[in-house]
Amino acid sequence: MSKYDIELINISKSFGIVKANSEISLSIAPGEIHALLGENGSGKSTLMNILSGIYTPDEGIIKLDGNEVKFNSPSDSIAAGIGMVHQHFKLVDVMSATENILLGLPGGLFIKPKKAAKSIKAVADKYGLKIDLSKKVYEMSVSEKQTVEIMKVLYRGARILILDEPTAVLTPQEIVSLFGILRNMKSSGCSIIIITHKLNEVMEISDRVTVLHKGRSIKTLVTSETDMTELTTLMVGKPISLEIKRAEVDSELKKPILQVTDLTVHNIDKREALDGMSFTLNSGEILGVAGIAGSGQKELCETIAGLQRASSGDVIYKGQSIIKMNPRDIIKKGITMSFIPEDRLGMGLVAGMSIIDNVILKKVQMQKGIIVDRKVGKKAAERIIKRFGIDTPSTHTIVRKLSGGNIQKVLLGREIEMNPELLITAYPVRGLDIGASYNIYDILNEQKTKGVGILFIGEDLDVLLSLCDRIMVIHSGKNMGIVDAKSTTKEKLGLMMLGQNPDDQAS
Ligand code: ADP
Ligand code: MG
Repeated sequence: MSKYDIELINISKSFGIVKANSEISLSIAPGEIHALLGENGSGKSTLMNILSGIYTPDEGIIKLDGNEVKFNSPSDSIAAGIGMVHQHFKLVDVMSATENILLGLPGGLFIKPKKAAKSIKAVADKYGLKIDLSKKVYEMSVSEKQTVEIMKVLYRGARILILDEPTAVLTPQEIVSLFGILRNMKSSGCSIIIITHKLNEVMEISDRVTVLHKGRSIKTLVTSETDMTELTTLMVGKPISLEIKRAEVDSELKKPILQVTDLTVHNIDKREALDGMSFTLNSGEILGVAGIAGSGQKELCETIAGLQRASSGDVIYKGQSIIKMNPRDIIKKGITMSFIPEDRLGMGLVAGMSIIDNVILKKVQMQKGIIVDRKVGKKAAERIIKRFGIDTPSTHTIVRKLSGGNIQKVLLGREIEMNPELLITAYPVRGLDIGASYNIYDILNEQKTKGVGILFIGEDLDVLLSLCDRIMVIHSGKNMGIVDAKSTTKEKLGLMMLGQNPDDQAS
């Protein structure tokens, strides 16, 4: 018998010229929580997709309890007791939790839901999963969907669970409950591999951690014998400071630049996306916006930028109402917006155009009627590339051909190149690795000290707490309150994100 459940030995995998995994070895002990840590693109998902039978390795072997195994499909891996919960869930929206759990099982459709419910319930109770079995997936929160995915895997008898960035989409409270479930699984003898790029989570939940860098396994460490500084250095390949600085700004720079009053916005489906929202943003300030995804972040950005119509309320910029203006006039007033997940045309980038042309496009929007000199455009594009460290063959490269992180840098770089007075930025570091993220924080701080007012829609509470001056928490399109970033806590923010008043807790 091997002392390891699973051994991956010298695994290599290429996609065309990209070597996603180079001779990676990794072993998982029974009852161990093993973190897989690495920057974006370091090969984590590829390695786990190999272990779960989605890809076959070019080289290397997998051993299970000491015996070599070959997985030709996910069902081979599942049969061997390995289950993976992917970053993007694969549930069927119109089906209930039970139906999704049974889906794909031999005879799955013929199993009586009532009968199955009992056995599912037994598994759920064993690990402390809370699940409403009759609820349809489309009615579920992200965290409930994740629970169904985990349940699906456990119900198939998995004793080795792989989770690919499971916490990226959860609130702090939901993370606490997920970690509780993982600890229960561990004490029942399951092994868990958790992929993350959040260092505090590695420290909190894992027994050991393996750091990947550029497709190679750098080192496996016992978590209690390492710290965040060492892990970051291994992950990034060089020492890097983990501190996000909050720039100090002269108080005379701070005056109200944007006032949103009683703003209500309805979506196409008539749902209230913003519900009487009011707040003031000052120049020389970063106002963070925290909230569960889909709480009105997108509608707030788009309404200020003139891309969406309000049902009532007002948006006042430097004393003047802009609520009825079109996006082009709003841009000309010095307001720019970058919205990473679903950036729209008008404010966004044109994927089929080169970097230069995208920069010129923006300049044309700013200076109506004037044809922008291509030389000026080229200079600006070169400046942006240099300043943001954009990895591109040339200024003529079509934006679509850049990697995700580099597209983001072009987008934000182009906005800042316009010298805005009000910068709205949503999820600007999503998908960026640590080095590039810190680069963006520095740039936002620099803009702030120049007196720019910044509305920063974020998702990582640690980042919001250290970068922003104040944080507005939104829930179901409502402003739940604005707190001082220096004195509040993650727990308080988490409760407000769930629509609760944290001050009610003290009874
Ligand atoms: P991580 O999960 O650590 O972010 P991945 O394993 O997803 O990294 O990716 C590692 C590298 O392999 C990246 O450069 C990525 O672009 C590339 N890659 C991953 N999957 C594919 C694929 N199906 N086709 C082509 N390239 C891929
Ligand atoms: Mg991945």
